[in-house]
Amino acid sequence: MTAEIISVGTELLLGNIVNTNAQYLAQKCAGLGLSMYYQSVVGDNEERMTESFRQALSRSDILILTGGLGPTEDDMTKEVCAKVMGRTLYLDEHSKSRIEDYFVRTGRKQITENNWKQAMVPEGAIVLDNHNGTAPGLIIEQGEKCAILLPGPPNELIPLFTEQVEPYLRSRCPETIYSEMVKLCGVGESRAETMIKDLIDAQTNPTIATYAKTAECDIRVTARANNETEAEEIIRPVVEELYRRFGHNIFTIREDETLEQVVVNLLKRNCLTVTTAESCTGGLLASRLINVPGASFAVKSAFVTYCDEEKMRLLGVPKEFLDKYTAVSAEVAEAMAVGGAKAGGANACLSVTGIAGPDGGTKERPVGLVYIGCYLNGKTVVREYRLRGNREKIREQAVVQALDLLRRCLIEQEGE
Ligand code: ATP
Ligand code: MG
Repeated sequence: MTAEIISVGTELLLGNIVNTNAQYLAQKCAGLGLSMYYQSVVGDNEERMTESFRQALSRSDILILTGGLGPTEDDMTKEVCAKVMGRTLYLDEHSKSRIEDYFVRTGRKQITENNWKQAMVPEGAIVLDNHNGTAPGLIIEQGEKCAILLPGPPNELIPLFTEQVEPYLRSRCPETIYSEMVKLCGVGESRAETMIKDLIDAQTNPTIATYAKTAECDIRVTARANNETEAEEIIRPVVEELYRRFGHNIFTIREDETLEQVVVNLLKRNCLTVTTAESCTGGLLASRLINVPGASFAVKSAFVTYCDEEKMRLLGVPKEFLDKYTAVSAEVAEAMAVGGAKAGGANACLSVTGIAGPDGGTKERPVGLVYIGCYLNGKTVVREYRLRGNREKIREQAVVQALDLLRRCLIEQEGE
């Protein structure tokens, strides 16, 4: 079965917003085993929308439209799609009362006349209740084909998709598509691919695909089967083989689990606390850790010491180290990690010091040179990294590497 995405909105065409919905939906469709050959963006223009919807419905089985379900004049995805599919609109009482409830629940003022536009539904459409906004999602079926209309705001689209569209799409697919995500850190995408080239070349069912992320690499294993149990049985030996090949480079096989979650869970499991001592990442590392719900059990504090004076004052880095080795050195990274743990009264401390660029690099000490220290229960490990990319990328990669270093140290200590 083929799926096609059309994102609606002049804002997207002008580059005012990034089309994250298309990325999200495309990944979801891939996970559901749907083939995707086309994706496009169309502005809020009736004629061009008509043309692109018509074309998409003629060549794809499932058309997913996002955006343009709002109450204003230029929101006309539903109206245009209904017209293309030959449906008239009627006032859906259920959606109307949900919109009223939403206004009461969120303490909004007077409902304006144009809000009722959002309760207008194409004949025969399946209405998807939107718990985070006023525009319901819609599914319009036509024979073997269907159009799925979703609101633009990601906080509305994502829950609608996972809670209602995904089960719907699964029920439309004759066979079950089930996939697992094996997430790696410390192995680049090309190396990962080389290491499993034989598996990729031989793949039929399950299929194996790699996805590069910042300093991480994900491998999706997807199986088609009559039911989920069968699919799991098809997937299991492949995941076991991936474990044999990648070992501790795999940090999770849970799709929704992040590296920072794994780290926080490891800390909690071992009743350990952590603090950070950051220079070039400027708090990004602490922020990633604190993003994890319940992080307060493990994350004690965070030091951002950007200049030498503060590295000395807050972390107790000796002046001689800074003079002799410079701030970007293994010695200073180690002193930051040890000093941070002491100052923060934590069992562990991650330190990051590096040259994020664009200036400040030399031939011997180029932009991207980063030292990460990990103090854990009296032991300190320091690693040197040569990261590539712009300032933002280097800082992001440094954060991932730091989290991964702590993860490895924690696993090692657990094994002792
Ligand atoms: P609203 O009721 O808010 O008007 P809508 O369904 O009409 O929602 P749009 O007006 O197209 O959707 O977009 C509303 C907002 O949703 C945008 O300002 C943007 O923040 C977000 N958005 C829309 N489309 C996308 C997209 N493709 N990717 C990411 N965000 C998007
Ligand atoms: Mg809108």
